[in-house]
Amino acid sequence: MRGKSSPKFLRVRCTDCSNEQLVYSHASTPVRCQVCSKTLAVPRGGKAEVKATILGTVE
Ligand SMILES: [Zn+2]
Repeated sequence: MRGKSSPKFLRVRCTDCSNEQLVYSHASTPVRCQVCSKTLAVPRGGKAEVKATILGTVE
């Protein structure tokens, strides 16, 4: 049975430049904004800590 923590892609908006891109919810490496290089997600040994505005999920 899958819970809310199952891996998925998150659609996020950079808080610095408003760029929107997809971030894997369980990213194992830091994810940076493709436009301004701000760190959008930090790996936490499981579910990544997202540092951007989460707009929604992509199943
Ligand atoms: Zn940005």
